[in-house]
Amino acid sequence: MRAHEAGALHGDIGSRPPWLRPPGDVNALVPQLWPRNVTRAADGALAVAGLSVRDLAAEYGTPVYVLDEDDLRTRCREFRAAFPDADVYYAGKAFLCRAVVRMIAEEGMFLDVCTGGELATALSAGMPPERIGFHGNNKSVAELSRALDAGVGRIILDSFTEIDRLTALARERGVRPRVLIRVTVGVEAHTHEFIATAHEDQKFGFSLAGGAAAAAAFKVIDEDVLELRGLHSHIGSQIFDASGFEVSARRVLGLQAQIRDARGVELPELDLGGGFGIAYTTQDDPAAPHDLAKRLRKIVDGECAAEKLAVPHLSIEPGRAIVGPAVFTLYEVGTVKDVDGIRTYVSVDGGMSDNIRTALYDASYSATVANRASSVEPLLARVVGKHCESGDIVVKDEFLPADVQPGDLVAVPGTGAYCRSMASNYNHVPRPSVVAVRDGRARLIVRRETEEDLLALDVG
Ligand SMILES: *Cc1c(COP(=O)(O)O)cnc(C)c1O
Repeated sequence: MRAHEAGALHGDIGSRPPWLRPPGDVNALVPQLWPRNVTRAADGALAVAGLSVRDLAAEYGTPVYVLDEDDLRTRCREFRAAFPDADVYYAGKAFLCRAVVRMIAEEGMFLDVCTGGELATALSAGMPPERIGFHGNNKSVAELSRALDAGVGRIILDSFTEIDRLTALARERGVRPRVLIRVTVGVEAHTHEFIATAHEDQKFGFSLAGGAAAAAAFKVIDEDVLELRGLHSHIGSQIFDASGFEVSARRVLGLQAQIRDARGVELPELDLGGGFGIAYTTQDDPAAPHDLAKRLRKIVDGECAAEKLAVPHLSIEPGRAIVGPAVFTLYEVGTVKDVDGIRTYVSVDGGMSDNIRTALYDASYSATVANRASSVEPLLARVVGKHCESGDIVVKDEFLPADVQPGDLVAVPGTGAYCRSMASNYNHVPRPSVVAVRDGRARLIVRRETEEDLLALDVG
C-alpha cells in the first residue's frame, strides 16, 4: 500500500491524499487514465470512438462497462511488438467473455485460464487450444481431463498432488501433455515496492527455497509421462518496478541451472508471469511495454550468461495491462449528500458489486462527470455505491464540479480488469452489461443480468 492510501478509507475521514489537488479544469481528461479513443466532445459530454456516453447510457442503461475495442487491440499489438520472440498470454481472469477471447485471438495472443469455466469460455469462442495455458492451484480431475481432451498447449503445475493427478490422467489417455512448473521465488511485488524473502507463505506454486521446486522438476523429468517445458513465476500485480522481476529471474534461472547440472536437461521455455501496472490515478506512471521488454530482456540475458544457459523461449502473462485501461464504467448519480461540510458523497447506481477493488484492496480510482462539462468550482467528492455497506466506495477522493447532481453520469476509468470478472450480486443487484465500441459503432458483448436471471437460480 502506498503511504498516501493509509487511513484514507477508514477513520480520519476529513483527510485527503496530499497529491490530490483541485484541477485547473475539472472537465479536462488526463490522457493516461482514459482509453485512447475517449474525448470530451463539443457538447461537453464524453465520447468514445465517436459515440456519446449520453447515447450509450440511453441505449444500454447504467451502470455499464464501456470497452474501447481499438484501445484493447492496440495494447495487444504493443505487447506483441515489444516481445516479438515471446508468447504473450492474456490472463483471462482479468476479464473474459467470448468477444474478448475472439479479439485477443485475432491479435495473435495466447490465453491463460485458471478454471473449467474460463476454459469453457475460451473454447466456446474458438480459441485454438494449443494457445491456451491452464493455471490454478487446485485444478480438479474433471478440469484437468477437459484440458487434456481439448488439447491445451500447456498446464502449469502447482502441487505434487496435481503432478500425480495429471500423470495418472495422461497415462490413461496415452498422451504427453506439456507442462511448466510454477516456482514460488520468494519475491512479492505490489505497486511501487517489492520484497524478497527466503521463503513464501502462500498457496501458489512450489517453494524454491524449501527445495520443493527442484524436487517437482526432478519428479516430472524422471517419470517422463509429462513433457516439462520450463519454469514459471508470477510475483504479484500492479507492479511498476522491474527490480522484482530481476530477483525472480535470477532465482528461477538459478534453478534452471541446477536442473541442468543434476539431470543434463536444459528446459527450453521460461515464463515470467504478468502483473504489469497501469495508471488508476495521476500518481501511477506505468512503463510502456517496449521499455518493460527491454528491461526484462536485459535481466534474462544477463542471468543466462551468468549461468551459462541458452536463453529460453520467453512468455509473459499480462492481464490488467491489456484490458484494464481499455474500459471505463458509466454510472448514473442518484443522490448527492454533503455531510457536515466534511465531505460530499455522490451515490451512483452500482458500487461494490461491479467494482470490489476499492473495498477489497483499498484501490484508488479517478472519476469525472461524463454527460456535460461544468464551469463551476470543483468540490472534493467521494463516489459511493448503493449497497448496504459503508465500505461500498468506488472512488475514495476525486474533484467533481460542485454542481454535480442526480441524473448526471459519472465515468470511472481503468475498470476493465478485475471489476466485471469479480462482480457479485450483493443486495441482489444484477450485474451490468459490457458494451464494446469501435469506429462509431457500439455492440453489446455481455448483456445485463435481469431480476429474472437472479430468480431463475432460486428453485426453492
Ligand atoms: C493474475 C495472474 C496474471 C495476470 O496478472 P495481471 O496483474 O492482471 O497482469 C498472470 N499470471 C498469473 C499466473 C496470474 O495468476
